[in-house]
Amino acid sequence: MPGSAPRRRGRAMKVRVAVNGYGTIGKRVADAVTKQPDMVLVGISKTRPSFEARSAAEKGYALFVAGEGRAADFEAAGLKVAGTVPDLLARADVVVDATPDRVGSENRAIYSKRGIPAIFQGGERADVAEASFSALGNYAACRGKKSLRVVSCNTTGIARAVSVLEPRWGIESWEATLVRRAADPAESKRGPLNGIVPAFHLPSHHGPDVRTIYPDLPIVTTALVVPTTLMHVHANHVRLKKPPKEVSEVVRAFGETSRFHLFAPWEHVDGTPQVMEYARDRGIGFNDMMENVLWEEGIHLDGGELHFFQAIHQESIVVPENIDAIRAVLNLAPDGPSSVEVTDRALGLPVRTRSGPRGPARKPP
Ligand code: NAD
Repeated sequence: MPGSAPRRRGRAMKVRVAVNGYGTIGKRVADAVTKQPDMVLVGISKTRPSFEARSAAEKGYALFVAGEGRAADFEAAGLKVAGTVPDLLARADVVVDATPDRVGSENRAIYSKRGIPAIFQGGERADVAEASFSALGNYAACRGKKSLRVVSCNTTGIARAVSVLEPRWGIESWEATLVRRAADPAESKRGPLNGIVPAFHLPSHHGPDVRTIYPDLPIVTTALVVPTTLMHVHANHVRLKKPPKEVSEVVRAFGETSRFHLFAPWEHVDGTPQVMEYARDRGIGFNDMMENVLWEEGIHLDGGELHFFQAIHQESIVVPENIDAIRAVLNLAPDGPSSVEVTDRALGLPVRTRSGPRGPARKPP
């Protein structure tokens, strides 16, 4: 039955997940699915043979032909094809659509005609799905929906931070300047290569997008694009309604929350190059940094005025949220924290439960 976890002889089975669109996000979600205790990957789709189709085949993922693709082209490249996207959907309980911006909207009719629950990405308009999703923000409201849209990397990052600050101290206002990466590391046709490009549309679309999760949040965002591929960085100014006395309370609140990673001053992380070097040292996912990254010394409190920087690894931050979104549509977990705990443990991320952190200890040398 769509919208609930499949069962056989009274026992829960692993849900079968299809990933339609196997690029930056899709390949990460596919790998993440294979690590989950309650999910199995039934296959991925590609429109044409490519290095990514090859690596999917090398991982043993069943390959299905998408869009205008031709099976003969894959066979000619020595890549075995298991069928077309309709065949992939027929084998699945849920589909994660990770196709380029706006292609997901075109696919929506195919999914709804088949009655298969679908997870879309942040490049789609909000009305592509029944609701926009943030695991830490609105899991409960999204449970049992037939379709969800995991909000974009920047929106996911802001929504996570709201989930820490709003319940503790209340938010009077939030202004964020988003310094955005020009391209993903694998892209060779985007820029700017040399220049800083402001977005003249004010506010930028990110603030309204955060309000698809938190409708009443008084947030205004501006954005500019810079020549880097590693990460985005947000400069946040939040006016708190009932601020804590000490900034250490804010540091502790972020530090004890799942999907936040704080760097201490003794770690000498000046900026995004060291963050991503740490990710390579750590080796999770595709050497990813799926958490919001904050610097302890980059969090300042002056009365009710809170300033903090956070870095967002655009390629991976939405990956755990896609896994949680699958659990939400199929009712696989009773609440958001339960799903987040299962997801993060399976991915090798530090697990922080409601009773406190249980991640790797980070002590000064
Ligand atoms: P991508 O271009 O890296 O990957 C998309 C893949 O889908 C490509 O392999 C492409 O060949 C394939 N494709 C194209 N048409 C298809 C079709 N009809 N059927 C199946 N596959 C098709 O894109 P991406 O960066 O992974 O982005 C996917 C979605 O995730 C977008 O909505 C994007 O806005 C969102 N997103 C991207 C990032 C990011 O930084 N890359 C971050 C968060 C969210």
